[in-house]
Amino acid sequence: MLLRMSSLFLRTLRDDPADAEVPSHKLLVRAGYVRRIAPGVYSWLPLGKMVLENVTRIVREEMDRMGGQEVLFPALLPREYYEATGRWTEYGDTLFRLKDRKGADYLLGPTHEEMFTDMVKGEYASYKDYPVTLYQIQTKYRDEARPRAGILRGREFVMKDSYSFDLDDEGLKHSYERHRETYIKIFDRLGIGYKICFATSGAMGGSASEEFLAPAVTGEDTFVACHHCGYAANAEAVTTPAPAAITGERPAQRVLDTPGTPTIESLVTYVNEHHGLNVTAAETLKNIVVKVTKPGSDKPETLIVGVPGDREVDFKRLEASLAPGEPAIFEAEDFARHPGLVRGYIGPQVLKGLGIRYLVDPRVVDGTAWVTGANEPGKHAVDVVAGRDFVADGTIEAAEVRTGDACPVCGSALSIDRGIEIGHIFQLGRKYADAAKLDALGPDGKPIRVTMGSYGVGVSRAVAVIVEQGHDELGLVWPREVAPVDVHLVGTGKDGQIEAATRLAEELEARGLRVLVDDRAGVSPGVKFKDAELLGMPTILIVGRGLAQGVAELRDRVTGVKEEIPIAEAVDRVVAACRA
Ligand code: ATP
Ligand code: MG
Repeated sequence: MLLRMSSLFLRTLRDDPADAEVPSHKLLVRAGYVRRIAPGVYSWLPLGKMVLENVTRIVREEMDRMGGQEVLFPALLPREYYEATGRWTEYGDTLFRLKDRKGADYLLGPTHEEMFTDMVKGEYASYKDYPVTLYQIQTKYRDEARPRAGILRGREFVMKDSYSFDLDDEGLKHSYERHRETYIKIFDRLGIGYKICFATSGAMGGSASEEFLAPAVTGEDTFVACHHCGYAANAEAVTTPAPAAITGERPAQRVLDTPGTPTIESLVTYVNEHHGLNVTAAETLKNIVVKVTKPGSDKPETLIVGVPGDREVDFKRLEASLAPGEPAIFEAEDFARHPGLVRGYIGPQVLKGLGIRYLVDPRVVDGTAWVTGANEPGKHAVDVVAGRDFVADGTIEAAEVRTGDACPVCGSALSIDRGIEIGHIFQLGRKYADAAKLDALGPDGKPIRVTMGSYGVGVSRAVAVIVEQGHDELGLVWPREVAPVDVHLVGTGKDGQIEAATRLAEELEARGLRVLVDDRAGVSPGVKFKDAELLGMPTILIVGRGLAQGVAELRDRVTGVKEEIPIAEAVDRVVAACRA
């Protein structure tokens, strides 16, 4: 392949696009790889399309090597399949729904579990047919609440999704492990750094699940890692080790006057100054009211969540814990409808009586004593003991996770970082097979319910993630396997340099390399150098003033190393650099 800048459909931009916040968005637009059509909807220009194809090819090669078989579903799907599993409603506003001319309901597929299950059911009948793993690399649609960061979070995006079908749990585990190994190979080849993190399964149902998170400051996911035992988990999935219950006598609870103390900070200061106590925020119990809407229902449930007062409620963790229910903030008008709930002074002592469900942080074990609201304006209670003065309806993981929190496996201090989800593997179990009644006829003539796994890779997102992790102040820096071309030749000057660069480009193409040559006449060397750096090809060869002395400059875009080499050796040297 030989691309010539003089005719390549490419216009680079000097300035960052106004709506771009993250490096990948800025650089991919500036370098002419993608263009915006609507929020979260992008077109791929020639160089961008080449990178996307390279990522796609790597994913496909590894999926095929694993034994996956590729199929392709439409994006446009009728409602009935998603109605059967409840996801037509469960998916909420994220689902793109539309009607055809006859008024029938359709959707644009956000993920395809239902369709794959149905396809297998249509073709396979006997236990002898199984196991099987099918995949597709296809365009998905999600009406994301916050499409941001260009192709990092699109409303239209390319995903590889695969599904395994097995006869028993052992088989599912095996399919899951093979996907895990395959994902490791894929992301290693893509040059993406990642951490494999325990995950929650969210609206998908099912049990074991892990996410591949690419560490990046711009990431929307937060994950913890234990450098002692290797535990890593999405913050949403971190479990809090519960301390042992405390036994023994505690003084009876007392109600104290605490006027004007609706916040934890004001409460702690007040009781220590005016009541001679010596408590910290961690000894207070903060009660947050939310309303939770179950899919398909329009009557939200009032729920109170109790967490130690030194911690905020992490809304993403709360959401993950309540999925598929959706929590929302309890507003002033909601309080108006619940006179029993005294804003700023809520305590769990009365919640049973009010018929309100109460869930607590796992640290709130029986026997722990708390300073908390006394359900009267300007009053708090001390020595309110869990299990004695109130009994929670269960525990919930909703409190924020902090650096230094104890690892749930070994107890060492956890670190916290941000990352971008690039892949997700799930053991779904039988949820979708149950909905579709997907059975295999067993050797004894009895039906066996099939068990499934579902596995996704963000193919278009991976392009952006590679940029997030690998760019510099000058522009893009592609790993060789995904770069549009291997080498970018730059001819600068009016003394035959462009012709010489073009001849070298042709020779390099003949040697099997993918080549881009900047053969534009009337463009200054400065502009050409800037473009070469911005476009990010791994090897750059400059044929400039040195041509008269028989030398060219070889640059490594990754290391930045520059070297003068004899023109006569240029072809061999570039081939060697590209094959290294
Ligand atoms: P996120 O938490 O980022 O919204 P998700 O958990 O909803 O992602 P999955 O349903 O697990 O995503 O989809 C599989 C993969 O598809 C993800 O790991 C991610 O790489 C990619 N992906 C999901 N949503 C988007 C999107 N809006 N734009 C680009 N890629 C996406
Ligand atoms: Mg996911």
